[in-house]
Amino acid sequence: MASRRDAVALPAVPVRLRDLLHAACRSRAQCARLTPPPRLQNAMPRPKDPSTGIDTRAVHAGESPRIAGSVTTPIFQTAMFETRDDIDYHDIGYLRLNNSPNHQAVQRKLAALEGGEAALVAASGMAAISTCLLTVLAPGGHLLAQRALYGGTHDLLAVEFPRLGLTHDYIDAARPDTWAAALRPDTRAIYLETMTNPTLAIGDLAAAAAFAQAHGLLAIIDNTFASPVNFRPLEHGFDLVLHSCTKYLNGHSDLVAGAVIGRADLVESVRTRLNILGGTLDPHACFLLQRGMKTLAVRVRQQNANALAVAQFLEAHPKVRAVHYPGLPSHPAHTRASALFDGFGGMLAVSLHGGIGAAERCIAALQLVVHTVSLGGVESLVTMPARSSHSTLSDAERSERGIDTGLMRISIGIEAADDLVADFAQALAHA
Ligand code: PLP
Repeated sequence: MASRRDAVALPAVPVRLRDLLHAACRSRAQCARLTPPPRLQNAMPRPKDPSTGIDTRAVHAGESPRIAGSVTTPIFQTAMFETRDDIDYHDIGYLRLNNSPNHQAVQRKLAALEGGEAALVAASGMAAISTCLLTVLAPGGHLLAQRALYGGTHDLLAVEFPRLGLTHDYIDAARPDTWAAALRPDTRAIYLETMTNPTLAIGDLAAAAAFAQAHGLLAIIDNTFASPVNFRPLEHGFDLVLHSCTKYLNGHSDLVAGAVIGRADLVESVRTRLNILGGTLDPHACFLLQRGMKTLAVRVRQQNANALAVAQFLEAHPKVRAVHYPGLPSHPAHTRASALFDGFGGMLAVSLHGGIGAAERCIAALQLVVHTVSLGGVESLVTMPARSSHSTLSDAERSERGIDTGLMRISIGIEAADDLVADFAQALAHA
């Protein structure tokens, strides 16, 4: 009997992965879920005008149909929706299945911002990353991963993967000539961050997408640091984009959320696993994220400009040993970043000549800039990754990734640039 797998073409899916995903299905019903259903609820409605700018998409995409004419999507604070006879279990309205009107609206906007066919929102960035990688790699797969990753992703690969029989090898993301040697018969994906956390290294992103295409792998990228305002990986051949929406996409430091964006068939496959594993975002957080994304473009452009001003000031300061910021000509990937990105982002990392003691004194003296973890909010933030995001790495692992103990990671907000420069100037006087 012809199954939906046979009936629905899956164009451009790397053959090895597609076969693997189908082979992993236990039933025909599960298999059918790997293909987009005829009316995929979260598929991005094609923009009426493909030239619509990202500022416009941030405001308007995903907002229609307006429910009861409401200009903002109301919060559907209900765990379930009345069941109709004509729908199957997968389409039943139940919050864990990520299909409330709040999920659908926020997912439409996320897909439109990255230019993806579909998007899936998740309970955190790590829920999005772990569910995506489990979907792509299990059972028994191998991942090529950029060496310097966000600490939580590093822990997922280093601590959880071995327990699940999944393997990985680190690659130097700036050296595509070295990648083929790390390939294995069970390699299924290559994984990068647009700019690494915290040292802002930028791999050869175009080469990674081409390498995946050539070797039947999926190209997956964590685009949290850049945000779709500065870089849209799907336009450059990546298959799946991941976000910690906790950061720039929401932008107001008041929720934790994640997203997977890309081809509808792949996102649908991740959605099936997320529904089972349970990493659902609640409707109120969906509402806040949808609201936050409306101002994404104006926030990020202000953060780009502020970060450049602060980076230039710090680079010229006698107490500063190094500034890592892709907008500075001194950054090793400045040329690549200039060619690929629409802006250099709001993140920078700084080392002082006085080491960790000087960094501690500087941070303690800052008055506007808040000492805390996380990033991407409207307020400027500072943290020392060796004590926060990368504290679980050994000293050797940190130094391999260029993270010295006194490195300060700064997330620039939307304050006035002059005020930020003045705050760093007075704080460095204490360092
Ligand atoms: N990816 C990057 C680049 C991050 O910086 C973070 C968190 O800092 C995450 C993913 C994880 O996001 P979340 O804290 O929302 O789970």
